[in-house]
Amino acid sequence: MARVVVLSGAGISAESGISTFRDSDGLWEKYDIKDICTVGCLVDNRAETIEFYDKRREDIADKKSNHAHYILSELKKRYRGDIAIITQNVDNLFEKAGLAHEDVIHLHGYLPEVECEECGEVFDIGYEKQADVFNGECPACGSDMIRPFIVMFGEAAPKYEVLNRELDDCELIVVIGTSGNVIGVNAMAQFIEHSILNNLEPSDAIEEELFDEVYYTKASEAIDSIEEAIVKLLAE
Ligand code: NAD
Ligand code: ZN
Repeated sequence: MARVVVLSGAGISAESGISTFRDSDGLWEKYDIKDICTVGCLVDNRAETIEFYDKRREDIADKKSNHAHYILSELKKRYRGDIAIITQNVDNLFEKAGLAHEDVIHLHGYLPEVECEECGEVFDIGYEKQADVFNGECPACGSDMIRPFIVMFGEAAPKYEVLNRELDDCELIVVIGTSGNVIGVNAMAQFIEHSILNNLEPSDAIEEELFDEVYYTKASEAIDSIEEAIVKLLAE
């Protein structure tokens, strides 16, 4: 299991032009988050939900990884199993920074993928609208019940088990760009020997005094100090 766990959220992708929930741009405001991100939305509001994720998928086509994604990707390639790159983000900016998709643990799903609700098969459709691919029919079983591969609020998140396993032997937890509202990070900082926090500003859901190092600045600015701390620990 990893000695270093990096847990990121929407903030790490903000400088790449993908908006977080809180500083939502016009596009997000067009939708009521609860209608398109909550369990049941694919039953009660299927067409609009699919349209929303089609747009998000299209949106990320031209987005570029930033310095923070690149540094973390290099560290993962260098230290492999000693570092786990775990993200709440559904974008592909770690992959665009050079990591294999298998090397990134996406806790809440992955925009380029869709899943067949009937047979469970997952397909990478890149930046396409899901209805434009396979005529909307699952190539494995023919069902038309294809959905974005995204974990909605209230749905089970199977990858949380992977997060918990990786935290077991972890010596350093690095939290970057997450407000801690969806996944609590206080207990991680409390029970793991070393901890680093990087956000733009304090969050009501995070007790900063539990962290050894706190950077309230852009991820691209904090990442060099974070890299130093990771390299120092892994060299021991
Ligand atoms: P959040 O919006 O709740 O919090 C974002 C955090 O990032 C804040 O604490 C803010 O201070 C910090 N931040 C903003 N800009 C930053 C920067 N340049 N550098 C460093 N920190 C910065 O995000 P969350 O905690 O990830 O939770 C939101 C949920 O929304 C997650 O489940 C996530 O899956 C989803 N989401 C994903 C994306 C994406 O894939 N890029 C975008 C929006 C929302
Ligand atoms: Zn199927």
